[in-house]
Amino acid sequence: MNTRQIDSDYIAHTYARFPLEIVSGEGAVVTGADGKQYLDFGSGIAVNTFGTADSEWIDAVTKQLSLFQHTSNLYYSKPCAELAKMLCERTGMKKVFFCNSGAEANECAIKLARAYGETKGEGYYNIIALKNSFHGRTLATLAATGQDVFHEKFQPLPGGFVFAEANNTESLRKVAENNKCCAVMLETVQGEGGINVLTDEFMNTVREVAEKHDLLIVVDEVQTGNGRTGKLYSYMHYGFTPDVFTTAKGLGGGLPIGACVMGEKAENLFSPGDNGSTFGGNPVVCAGAVNILSRLTDEFISEVAEKGEYLKKNLESISGVTEVSGRGFMLGLLSEKDSAEIIAEAREKGLLLLKAKNKVRLLPPLTVTKEQIDKAVEIIAECVNG
Ligand SMILES: *Cc1c(COP(=O)(O)O)cnc(C)c1O
Repeated sequence: MNTRQIDSDYIAHTYARFPLEIVSGEGAVVTGADGKQYLDFGSGIAVNTFGTADSEWIDAVTKQLSLFQHTSNLYYSKPCAELAKMLCERTGMKKVFFCNSGAEANECAIKLARAYGETKGEGYYNIIALKNSFHGRTLATLAATGQDVFHEKFQPLPGGFVFAEANNTESLRKVAENNKCCAVMLETVQGEGGINVLTDEFMNTVREVAEKHDLLIVVDEVQTGNGRTGKLYSYMHYGFTPDVFTTAKGLGGGLPIGACVMGEKAENLFSPGDNGSTFGGNPVVCAGAVNILSRLTDEFISEVAEKGEYLKKNLESISGVTEVSGRGFMLGLLSEKDSAEIIAEAREKGLLLLKAKNKVRLLPPLTVTKEQIDKAVEIIAECVNG
């Protein structure tokens, strides 16, 4: 039996997979079981920051792997301590909680927000989230996700989430006035929601409303983080520091990690026993993440911003393309042709793309070259106009 048949027989049917099995890769190129090579503009959904089979990252991971692969959080281990220090030093934040995924990092942020609400008085448990957001698949993070399609079938969801319209300052003000709240939680570029960038005006209002109503600002950097948008973390485009941010996907370079990063207002909300994770802070994963973060230098990230601009401009110049949204290497494309058709045809031509709502989503590895960008744009142009 082939992999696709076994998968279909034995894997829970929660994914609509593309008809392609990946067997190996190098950099921005992956090889399929069909023997064909594909330009990978999905990076395992913004995970493979330095592409596939990056040798420096493999060295960092395997070096730790040969020392010890795991210990419990009852003991100290260097890679996670080192990673936490780096995260705080690069961002001005104070403390880190490590876990294994974006959803878990957001669960941690939600717990922090609730703990903050407790300090405000009776009933201040509501978290303002945005319509069209995506924060994960666990029950609480689903409840924080402002898209009804994800909620059907799973009622009742945990309560205490209220929703404002993204980029609608009036809506945000009203929701904050009308509810007893502890936090506002958002993605600066809504990823699964269709690559929608929050405006400077809206983010300024978030800060003003948070100040007025004493709210924690929680930024979900799970998809936007780790250089993806042309800044180390996407909130840095707006010139402020949140009280809490979460990150995952690209931080591990391909191994599962989540981190909830706390600023001054949040660093002392937890006491021993308030949160935990068996695998959180795993030394192998953290050794890989230390390698990733140390290579995400300001210089490297400004190249990402520049290459992202280049990709965006070239996509915009394709006839038939009506909109390119996003920042850096997190872009969404709309054209006169259906996105699913473009994605299917591009795959046939050797380019892997993703979808976000009705848009084609592009999340190439940050190391993708200009030649590879040119090739991808050429294929997309053929598909849009084919
Ligand atoms: C992917 C994603 C999540 C969920 O991360 P998992 O690792 O799949 O749990 C949460 N928030 C955002 C913005 C994401 O893109």
